[in-house]
Amino acid sequence: KAKKAGGNAHLMFNAHMAAEAHDNLYLESEIRHGLEQSQFTLYLQPKVNMDGMTKGFESLVRWDHPERGIISPAEFIPAMESMGFISQLDNWILEASFRQLKVLEPHHPEIVISVNISSTHFTKHSFLVFLNECLQKYPINPNRLELEITETLLMENMNEGREVINTIKQMGVRIAIDDFGTGYSSLSYLKNLPVDTLKIDRVFIKDIPDSESDKQISSVIIFLAKQLNFTVVAEGVETLAQLNFLKDNHCDQAQGFYFSKPIASHKAIIMLESERINQLNTDTATPL
Ligand code: C2E
Ligand code: MG
Ligand code: MG
Ligand code: MG
Repeated sequence: KAKKAGGNAHLMFNAHMAAEAHDNLYLESEIRHGLEQSQFTLYLQPKVNMDGMTKGFESLVRWDHPERGIISPAEFIPAMESMGFISQLDNWILEASFRQLKVLEPHHPEIVISVNISSTHFTKHSFLVFLNECLQKYPINPNRLELEITETLLMENMNEGREVINTIKQMGVRIAIDDFGTGYSSLSYLKNLPVDTLKIDRVFIKDIPDSESDKQISSVIIFLAKQLNFTVVAEGVETLAQLNFLKDNHCDQAQGFYFSKPIASHKAIIMLESERINQLNTDTATPL
């Protein structure tokens, strides 16, 4: 730590370290306070089929900070992972998602909610215990819950990851591989795991239809994934051209700003109800 640099550089280095340590301490106490004060809230982003009908939602956390407003997870998830808060946050979001499933159950029992689970949390025994407790406390069909994990987790911890996935599947809960294509896993490896869903990362979608190579990569991923019986979801769909491309390539579901940004969780049921009314209206308006 004690760098033997020139006098001033040495001082500056220490001052910088001290400032950083101070920032981290400050952030840590803010996160702790935020967790105590329930400043973290659940947002839901619709996942739709190729006809634009909502099939499920992805749970996305937002930090509703009293002074700084809504803060996106990219700004605090890495800090939470390194400071050891991520389990608490993920469990909180998981339970909030169970509550939503319960709310949706009477009229929308087919809706699936997908929850992101950090790799540092996923392989902990305490996570499986908490998941089990939630399944007891909120008696919904476990098939309506999906856990999103990243490829990196699987690659770094193959045997452990495989074991946890098997246990979760035995509980009846679905598994999705998130951000597919950005890591090093292959479809041939995934086909040996009881994975239900593959989410193609936004990087392969964002330059469609301009990028020929991204169109080729995406269509190959979709084709092979369907051959292996995965449900395929494209993330980050922002345009009609992208949707049409996905439709032409028989992708199952899409998620992105073209359909909806993440919404506050209490709005999900309202959205589903109005979608149903619109559907009824178009059905009756259609001439024979
Ligand atoms: P992710 O799981 O890949 O989630 C998709 C991200 O893409 C979300 O960002 C979503 O808001 C964003 N997105 C969706 N549609 C579009 C689009 O059309 N265009 C663009 N540009 N972006 C779109 P968000 O909400 O900022 O979350 C970022 C990441 O933080 C997530 O990536 C996920 O890895 C992580 N995350 C979010 N919530 C949780 C959580 O509760 N627990 C854990 N462990 N991680 C979480
Ligand atoms: Mg995700
Ligand atoms: Mg993703
Ligand atoms: Mg992503």
